[in-house]
Amino acid sequence: MQEGSRGPVLAVDLGGTKIIAAAVLPSGKIVSRNYCLTLADEGPEAVINRLLSAVNGATAKAKLKTSELTGIGIAAAGILDTEKGIITTSPNLPDWHDVPLGDILADRLGVATYLINDASAAALGEHRFGAGKRVDNLVYLTVSTGIGGGIITNGKLYSGANGCAGEIGHMTIEAHGPQCNCGNFGCLEALASGTAVAREAVRRLNQGETSSIAQLAEARLETITAETVALAARQGDHLACDVVTKAANYLGIGLANLVNIFNPELIVIGGGLSKMGDMLLEPARKVVKERAFQLPARTVRIVRARLGSNAGIVGAAVHTFEQQLDRNTEA
Ligand SMILES: [Zn+2]
Repeated sequence: MQEGSRGPVLAVDLGGTKIIAAAVLPSGKIVSRNYCLTLADEGPEAVINRLLSAVNGATAKAKLKTSELTGIGIAAAGILDTEKGIITTSPNLPDWHDVPLGDILADRLGVATYLINDASAAALGEHRFGAGKRVDNLVYLTVSTGIGGGIITNGKLYSGANGCAGEIGHMTIEAHGPQCNCGNFGCLEALASGTAVAREAVRRLNQGETSSIAQLAEARLETITAETVALAARQGDHLACDVVTKAANYLGIGLANLVNIFNPELIVIGGGLSKMGDMLLEPARKVVKERAFQLPARTVRIVRARLGSNAGIVGAAVHTFEQQLDRNTEA
């Protein structure tokens, strides 16, 4: 790469189901996109090979050579050592333990590679090119099967000592609440994620409550998802509305904590559950007004994300451009 050049970044969203690779310009524009299935149960080596093909495919589609790339940015779920480019553990990739993905890709492709947590990436993406443009302090939450987060303070991603900051889904909301995937009890994720919404609906149906959710799922309760519950709630189903409002109240408690700690101008909510819109956000806003200190509660706006499923890709690209800029400045 020529010094000072700003070729595209090849950004990758390494998810549990899909690997998406895309060439992204410094303006945030996606110029090519390629994807394949992750098939995580085949183990790290097979996944890395597919990831390499996806990267090569997206690079070729954009009519680029890998030598023209500014870098490669990988967004992945889990606990990442971003400094060393290591995926230590990931809920989406059960066989991955301390995999030095950054070095592996840099060796095979000859391009500097940077890792970033997927929710941190989405926070960066929304901050630069989405709902959080021109905002200095924002907190981003992705509410889907789990809950992830990213924190921007003074225009920069707050990473913490190890790059692990922003695990908003795992703040304790109810000390004796249901057990979370992380092993703890009463985490926000265990109370307000899509998984939690579906589980609570099924629990109440099993207790004999009646609801149109059961008809929508054709009585196969194991197929009920948060989407089923949302659909029933939109049709005015009492149980569904109640389950969604409860989850939204828990979300509001989490947001009130964030408002008191960070005093952000903006909270951006992405992920599948954000599609519920005001059905989820309005009760949460109300709880924030009731629980947080008045001045920061009046200041904060709580809005839906704008970049949709592109947030991780765009954010991984932003992160890579920034890392390369830092490197060039240091050199
Ligand atoms: Zn947890």
